[in-house]
Amino acid sequence: MSQPDSSRRAKSIGHYILGKTIGEGTFGKVKLGTHILTSERVAVKILEKERIVEVADVERVAREVHILKLIRHPHIVQLYEIIETRRQLYLIMEYASGGELFDYIVAKGRVPEPEACRFFHQIIAGLEKVHAMNIVHRDLKPENLLLDEHNNIKIVDFGLSNVFRQGQLLKTACGSPCYAAPEMIAGHSYVPHLCDMWSCGVILFALVCGYLPFEDQNTSALYKKILAAEYKTPKFISEAAPVTSPHPSISRSR
Ligand code: ADP
Ligand code: MG
Repeated sequence: MSQPDSSRRAKSIGHYILGKTIGEGTFGKVKLGTHILTSERVAVKILEKERIVEVADVERVAREVHILKLIRHPHIVQLYEIIETRRQLYLIMEYASGGELFDYIVAKGRVPEPEACRFFHQIIAGLEKVHAMNIVHRDLKPENLLLDEHNNIKIVDFGLSNVFRQGQLLKTACGSPCYAAPEMIAGHSYVPHLCDMWSCGVILFALVCGYLPFEDQNTSALYKKILAAEYKTPKFISEAAPVTSPHPSISRSR
């Protein structure tokens, strides 16, 4: 028996045909989209409205969309278009085909310092733009740093970001504990951009060492290490790398 036409046709949204799943987000899948006429590839982040119920979740999505619309920078993923249907919100974004920096580090064991330096420069360049707009990311980690086809950094996931006024301190603790600044862990008010800078330091360490500076199965022991800035630098890094007890590999953050 022949199938009804609709089930054979590839699913499309706007001018894009939806292809394979390239990521798993908090509120839905991220899929590869291909433009019907130009074959341009995009990432389509699907937000299932039925999964966005809590007020905090609504705020998270609203912030992400608002902030992504504002920022345009070579090292920040660009939002092209938003399409809303009854049950979903589709964010049509620039596609970073090289995957997550996390998987890149894992595949290589650790990144040679000149290459780590290049990545770090690009992360800081993107972040400089974010901070200049009085926006703080608050969830910087190698899972949220993607690579494009030329191995250039694209910062993604502004779900925990926020806008702040000049001189304003923030209080909400968020992000992954391994990358969180001590002042945030201690529950103090914090200078917004400084907590991003701390996460960058942890990322730099993960790049050149291949494991995290602060890690523990036990969360309170992890917090103690971060608060005491207790880490050791491995022998193999150069004097130029300003960056711990040896661990075998980095693990995906909680
Ligand atoms: P969430 O905010 O729910 O964590 P993310 O924006 O981090 O969602 O997306 C989840 C995953 O999907 C990312 O870690 C990444 O692997 C993939 N992804 C997201 N955006 C893109 C993109 N623009 N290009 C390629 N992959 C992407
Ligand atoms: Mg994410």
